[in-house]
Amino acid sequence: MSFQLVLPKNIIFGRGTYSRLGELCAEVGNRALLVTGKSALRKSGRLDQALGLLNRHGVKVELFEGVGSDPDLHTCDRAIGLARERGTNLVAAVGGGSALDVGKAVAAVVPQPGQLSEYFAGDRKLEQSPLPFLAVPTTAGTGSECTNNAVLTDSDRMMKKSLRDERMVPDVALVDPELTFSVPADVTAQTGMDALTQALECYVSRASNPLSDALALRAIKLIAKNLPDAVADGSRIEAREPVALGSLLTAMVFGNVGLGAVHGLAHPLGILFHIPHGLVCAVLLPHVCQFNLPERLEKFGQVAPLVGASSAEEVPTALRELNRQVGIPETFTGYGVNETAFDRILADCRSGSMAKNPRPALDEDLREILRKVV
Ligand code: NAD
Repeated sequence: MSFQLVLPKNIIFGRGTYSRLGELCAEVGNRALLVTGKSALRKSGRLDQALGLLNRHGVKVELFEGVGSDPDLHTCDRAIGLARERGTNLVAAVGGGSALDVGKAVAAVVPQPGQLSEYFAGDRKLEQSPLPFLAVPTTAGTGSECTNNAVLTDSDRMMKKSLRDERMVPDVALVDPELTFSVPADVTAQTGMDALTQALECYVSRASNPLSDALALRAIKLIAKNLPDAVADGSRIEAREPVALGSLLTAMVFGNVGLGAVHGLAHPLGILFHIPHGLVCAVLLPHVCQFNLPERLEKFGQVAPLVGASSAEEVPTALRELNRQVGIPETFTGYGVNETAFDRILADCRSGSMAKNPRPALDEDLREILRKVV
């Protein structure tokens, strides 16, 4: 047996740890690009808090605000241009997975020659080390705070894929569950189900190992048990904290052992039909688990009690029930997904995630899954 987990140098978890942002930035640089989303951070008062903390520690800040969902290459290029112009020597991103991925890509590409699109297309490899990068998630979550990739959209080609390099793993993952208090119920449900999907997919992944199994199982338990309460009342730290912890544990493993068919299908579906990433994953999850059951019966048996199922065979039903409890629909009705798009989805779904699915999925198997969710 052999395995390797590449992780941030510094993983910090806990209520109130956001107050350490200034000191952590000052340890690695003095001219920061602070990347964040559209308005949530400003509205919650956390943006002013970040600016105050950085200022107090002598870190000059350039703000790059307004990152929307499914960030594209043009957004990153604007941030890269700004960072190069201002002599930025560290990047901090505070936000959902979208802002974190932009920050991560910017930190990677600023020190390199050329444009982001050349690295995204695989025409060039990172030559220089990325700038120091601190990731502070405000959703729980995508796990981007621990992974070596930034999921970006090429809006000219309507294609979503990862810019990936081992050196892109953030230097610091700072996870303060209190930052998730302001996340609305629907986003809490979607991001929580994204994290649960990651945990389940990497637990049954072809590349799983004993260490990833231990973390993934714990994550499945924490998220499945507490997500309905976090959705019902987002101000309850007793629910927010375990969901954030589950998301972090997942983050530590899925980037190392890979995901599966849910994530393979989720990227083309999400980008072609503008469906939030977590929602796509949640809707597909019970069907992909059903498909994978024969290949991982024993492992699904371990998962069963953690998701309220009485046996491995009941896991897909329990996941459907969990989706229902947190307000996730059973299908993509209303998003315009139809059979005419299946060929395009199948052409774009053969990613690294798909390759890690425990049961090889032929196009016809995937069509069958897609027919159940349109
Ligand atoms: P998001 O970052 O797009 O945010 C969703 C919404 O929630 C936005 O409107 C945002 O403003 C809002 N929001 C975020 N934090 C908030 C807060 N604390 N309070 C109130 N509102 C808040 O969504 P996401 O699900 O976090 O990220 C999705 C992106 O992450 C997708 O592009 C997905 O592909 C990517 N992703 C990346 C990785 C990775 O390892 N790099 C893994 C999984 C997903």
